[in-house]
Amino acid sequence: MPLVLRALSTRALALQPLAVRALSTCALTVQPPDLRALAIGALSPPACAACDAPVPARADLCTACAATVRRDTPTPPRCPDHPPLIAHALFQGAVARVIRRFKYTSRPDLARPLGRMLLQAARDACVHADLVLPVPLHPGRLAERGYNQAALLAAEIASPLRIPLLARGLARLRPTPHQARLARLDRFSNVSDAFRARWPARIQGRAVLLVDDVATTGATLAACASALHRAGATAVTALVIARAHEEATLDLPIPPGPNDLRSSLNRIP
Ligand SMILES: [Zn+2]
Repeated sequence: MPLVLRALSTRALALQPLAVRALSTCALTVQPPDLRALAIGALSPPACAACDAPVPARADLCTACAATVRRDTPTPPRCPDHPPLIAHALFQGAVARVIRRFKYTSRPDLARPLGRMLLQAARDACVHADLVLPVPLHPGRLAERGYNQAALLAAEIASPLRIPLLARGLARLRPTPHQARLARLDRFSNVSDAFRARWPARIQGRAVLLVDDVATTGATLAACASALHRAGATAVTALVIARAHEEATLDLPIPPGPNDLRSSLNRIP
């Protein structure tokens, strides 16, 4: 076997847990992982998740990018129907860039460093829950992107937190226009009845940790929490990587890095 292929094969095996989890726990919500993306990640030396600069093993961000991270300060929910929100950081700097690359440049492998950020936020907040559950994508958007970014993140944290994952616990009933293109009030009406619990009996009486990548107005998280409460959830806590200001522009195009498979599509969550 040629050296490169042998190396690829060996590193692909090392990455198997990510692929297996994606296939087994998210069978119908996540497409088979992008093997090209996984191979690039496996063959590349450790690189900053935001700018691709070389980093020491086990480091996710280079020193310069890490300096741009602003940890989030927890605030009480602004409305009674909003779940408590735990966010790792503010949506800015390197964190914003990694999230955009994760979603818009075919980089499902970035679920791993982002998952570590999410895990740190969950542990810092001493999260207790009975179920981890991702915000779902509509099947049409899932087919377009190839993976549900929230499902990949949920899969990354469920095992280390020792909380069962219910990857398809929520269904998105209809496609919704991209949230950031709507005025604030429109965002709430846009998603208010867009979700339902697939198996209420598995949610009844459980405290749920609801996972997504970014929170802006919280409309999507509130609509998901509402569906979970209708199914009998005793509590819902939202966990995201980043909290964005309502006026934040989430869809700035980003130049593709050497490890990105396609440039930003200028899309919004
Ligand atoms: Zn960097």
